[in-house]
Amino acid sequence: MRSSAGGSWWFARRTMTLRCRHAPHRWPLLCFWLALFAVAVTVLVTEPFFGDLSRRAPVSCHRAPRPLAPRADLEVLVDSRDPAAGGVSALGFLQDDQLLVAPPTPEKVVPAEGRRVAVAESRGPAGVLEKRGFGDQVSLHPRPAETRHPECLSQRYNASLPTATVVVCFHDEAWSTLLRTVHSVLDTAPPQHLRELLLVDDCSKHGHLKTPLSEYVSRLQVVRLLRSGRRLGVVGCRMLGAARALGNVLIFLDSHCECQQGWLEPLLERIAGDRSRVVSPVLDIVDGRTFQYSATQDSIRGVFDWKLDFHWETLPKQKDAVTSVEPIRSPALGGVLAIDRQFFQKIGAYDPGMVLWGVENIELSIRVWLCGGSMEVIPCSRVGHLHHPHLSYTLPDDDIVERNKIRVAETWLDAYKNIFYKRDTVAYFIWQSESSNCTERLNLQKTLGCKNFQWYLSSVHQDLYIPQDRQGFSGEARLTFTQYFYRIEGLSPAPSFNRLYNVGTGCCADHKKGWAPGDGAMDLSPCSGNGNQHCEMNSQKEVRWGAMGQLCFDVRGERVVLSQCPPKQHTVARLQWNMLKNGHIVHLLSEKCIEAVKTEKTHGAATVVQGNVGKQASDIWVEGGLFLRPCSSDPRQQWHFEQVVNPRRS
Ligand code: UDP
Ligand code: MN
Repeated sequence: MRSSAGGSWWFARRTMTLRCRHAPHRWPLLCFWLALFAVAVTVLVTEPFFGDLSRRAPVSCHRAPRPLAPRADLEVLVDSRDPAAGGVSALGFLQDDQLLVAPPTPEKVVPAEGRRVAVAESRGPAGVLEKRGFGDQVSLHPRPAETRHPECLSQRYNASLPTATVVVCFHDEAWSTLLRTVHSVLDTAPPQHLRELLLVDDCSKHGHLKTPLSEYVSRLQVVRLLRSGRRLGVVGCRMLGAARALGNVLIFLDSHCECQQGWLEPLLERIAGDRSRVVSPVLDIVDGRTFQYSATQDSIRGVFDWKLDFHWETLPKQKDAVTSVEPIRSPALGGVLAIDRQFFQKIGAYDPGMVLWGVENIELSIRVWLCGGSMEVIPCSRVGHLHHPHLSYTLPDDDIVERNKIRVAETWLDAYKNIFYKRDTVAYFIWQSESSNCTERLNLQKTLGCKNFQWYLSSVHQDLYIPQDRQGFSGEARLTFTQYFYRIEGLSPAPSFNRLYNVGTGCCADHKKGWAPGDGAMDLSPCSGNGNQHCEMNSQKEVRWGAMGQLCFDVRGERVVLSQCPPKQHTVARLQWNMLKNGHIVHLLSEKCIEAVKTEKTHGAATVVQGNVGKQASDIWVEGGLFLRPCSSDPRQQWHFEQVVNPRRS
């Protein structure tokens, strides 16, 4: 602000010089008056933009005074980032974690309860507030309906729980969703347990997240705002927050969350009981467009598949009320979690080698389990998480997530990493063409004396199906030099593998769209390279579908469908198949073969393409899919498991 004011003086002086340089000497008085006029005009024109009204009496009664008088320490940092104020970056020379811009002021004004958003007093220029299309009529004080199990309501918690620092990182978050997150924490967390709420700005560009946010936040109790002048990504941003936290327990929330009544206490109590427990609330779903709140079933746990993608898995509902509110052991957790601050630092925080976004939660999960901790979902703690209708930011490059996955594989998966590389072709190629340096994390693993991934599979996530990847039943190695070259040069999409290819139709087995997984019919689609058609046959003669390998080829009538696979070592005859040398896949019980039937719609009618022999397309509807038929030499009964690369290093 001060430098801007200096700029207006410079402008005034320069104006005067220009006017007088060629002025005739006989008109000095006129020149003087002209100069005075120029100064006055300059001050009047520039003051609404640069003037600090708080330090001067208003010049004109017509101009509405700015409702908030920003303090100098906020302005210097915030406005110097704003291109409208000259575009000079004052942050360049500051360290990322020195950017504490909004310490609380002594006299706090917390906006009235339940008030509709009236952000006009702190908004920037019109139109910069909402970049994601949320109207500013959304309440900043969400009041989600009670979704906890009734048993939770009568639970009592220890009065002397550890204190919490809530860390909320954000990058270009919408105003309303960010402030709903803040207020939902302030409205629900008991003050004696909430040490502070740290908002960490990961180099946002939107105007509403600059001065208006600093001003707004400076009036809120226990909220502090940190800003990074460099994009840190989720990992770096959270580590910055953690480094500045004063509470005993760190609670990481996304910048679009709604905390339910009573969410905090059960999390803190579990950690108070054992500092190495890492716990998560049940995440309810908030619709990104309507803000409608939908409860998630009580019994969920976090898991990941062999593509290193994270999922919430629904567990069977518990019969009695007490067990249904008990903590659920969870092989992994998502981004929202609570962890003892010292334990977090002791086990190596997050992996700083991970870039921007993605998989950091899986890395943390494996590390927590292998290096002495545990993870739980706490059914009595509930937090709504907004499902983005459209993200507030996009990743510059899809391969970022792949590189983060490679770090997980190289650091933690031991020999099991081959299973991952077989399911994620893109990661495989990146791994082959780039070197990833995980030495520091491997050293950390040794220092901490962590267990190996075999232990994780046998003691933590016992239900994760371990694919056998048998030669000929999960694909052949087929990488050609040309394919490899194209991929490296970015000329073509990655070749895919581990799919079930049908000779007669030239298509691959796929899951029928619109059918719920686990209940779905098998269909045919053009072979894709994204790994979503993953399919393999194991030594129990099951044909397993998907990266999790938990769905099996089953039969309903004549149709080949998917159903949940039986537990290990419990083979079911109906789910068994034989793969013959001629490409037949024979159902063991019925002795029939899988045949591909493909349909295509033309002119509103179904046309059979390479479908039943001899039938005319126009007058008959044959639904496509995989069917059991008497075995024949028809090429539509010929299949092979296709794998394009063999990722095992020679
Ligand atoms: N985030 C961030 N920097 C980034 C990417 C994300 O600070 O480079 C924040 C983001 O604003 C959000 C949290 O990290 O608060 C998690 O990101 P997101 O909600 O996109 O993850 P998801 O819910 O999709 O897992
Ligand atoms: Mn999120």
